[in-house]
Amino acid sequence: MNIVLLGIQGSGKGTLVLDLEKYFDFTLVSVGQLLRDEISTGSVLGKQIKEKIDKGLLVDLNTIKSIVENKLKNNTRSITIFDGFPRNREQAEMLDKIAKVDLLIYLKLTKDLAIDRVLNRLMCTKCGNITTAKATNSNICLECGGKLARRSDDRLEAVEKRFEQYEKETFPLLEKYRAQGVVLEIDASKTPEEVLDIVLKVIKNEHKN
Ligand code: AMP
Repeated sequence: MNIVLLGIQGSGKGTLVLDLEKYFDFTLVSVGQLLRDEISTGSVLGKQIKEKIDKGLLVDLNTIKSIVENKLKNNTRSITIFDGFPRNREQAEMLDKIAKVDLLIYLKLTKDLAIDRVLNRLMCTKCGNITTAKATNSNICLECGGKLARRSDDRLEAVEKRFEQYEKETFPLLEKYRAQGVVLEIDASKTPEEVLDIVLKVIKNEHKN
């Protein structure tokens, strides 16, 4: 079963993935995280990727293709979740050649709420757990004890660039997947627990069939 998570930044895709990991064994293709992993190696490619990410721009198709293919090499799990991919038409065509999308979870959120969440979020540099500056008094992750930090691309300028790109290139992809009858739309202003509950019911049901 192949699942795509689609939603504006701050809509809770990363949080949902971390919650789902407690219930299912799946292969996660989180393209943003894979790109951050490459940056942390200090490679030349990583430096080029960081330049794009910090400006809120998309990383080029060839790089995305190779990291996605590399992640799926030797994949034997029955569920694969794609987070932050596809982000435009070219990537959706690329995905069509790799996998059939069975379910697209669209986390719907207004831009105002999304901006508020993104500008206040902190991410654990060790486990990826996401929290907010409001919810914690320290910079230590409650899940794993790692260090919490703001993402270097969560600055207003880069955030706005990502919104622009999302509205122009990613949001229109919904039409393609709606036509395939695979879209599950969820109000992402709900709590993470409520969102998780809806998703768990649907996945359990679909996975049975
Ligand atoms: P995310 O962790 O999904 O918010 O992604 C962080 C950044 O990584 C994005 O703003 C892009 O610069 C880059 N990125 C993530 N996914 C993709 C993708 N599918 N295609 C191109 N660039 C991406």
